[in-house]
Amino acid sequence: MENNGKINPQNLGQFRLLSESLTELDELKKIFEELCSKIAKQYSLYYENGKPRKSTLIETIARSPCLTCITKSFSNKTATKNVDSLYKECHRLAVNVLVEELYRLLNTMGYKVLISAEAELEYGKADILITVTNYGLNLKGETRELLIEVKTGNSVSLTQIFRYLLDFRSDTIIVWRIRKRQVLVFNAQKIKPLLAEFMRIICLRADRLLSSQRIQPCQHTKQSNYQPSQEELEKMFEEFSSALIETLPTILQTTLEQLEIVIPSEQGENCEREK
Ligand SMILES: [Zn+2]
Repeated sequence: MENNGKINPQNLGQFRLLSESLTELDELKKIFEELCSKIAKQYSLYYENGKPRKSTLIETIARSPCLTCITKSFSNKTATKNVDSLYKECHRLAVNVLVEELYRLLNTMGYKVLISAEAELEYGKADILITVTNYGLNLKGETRELLIEVKTGNSVSLTQIFRYLLDFRSDTIIVWRIRKRQVLVFNAQKIKPLLAEFMRIICLRADRLLSSQRIQPCQHTKQSNYQPSQEELEKMFEEFSSALIETLPTILQTTLEQLEIVIPSEQGENCEREK
């Protein structure tokens, strides 16, 4: 089958032979960039600022191997998820509480930090991005960052976590699953081969999409838009309110622990003494 000349999936196989280092991921990211601009052009997937919608592209391609479902989703840009605004409000509240508590805690511990909500990343927006701004001389010029994702529902998206880790800005992402009363830490270094495999299948599938001449209709039915009942919303909110207060110390403690890994301990101590 014709392959638009440039990207050949057989080439992707060669990267597999390279060591599972950042170089491999870097190579895959470059291939992705090329495929991404082609798909964005074909389906007009751009933000208002003219940049390709990389996060939408990855999410859609990762969701299903069915090319028909993927193209349907690309063509149906107006379809917005009908999420009850109470969920959004809970999410906003949790992010706001956490940002302020983190500022208080980290300043008390001697860290100088910048905490951004809705931080723009290469493949999407992170709920919270902590940037440490006080390094010792030996760390000068290096960026030390930590990502936090706040989940108010029961779901968790691996694609989302992978998208953030593929940014390389932070090796660590902390997921605060409030209603599950869980704080999970994901580390890019520990799952590097899987991250590379993920990027690889995105590239392979994107290439398969671009090189397909004719896409057959499929039998996959659309998921219905689930609407929670009043009782369900009340129950969710009660669970959320108690779980937020209960797990707030855990998320703060975990963030502090992860920052201590990011910043060597003597740095933290120095910061303490400087105060
Ligand atoms: Zn389908």
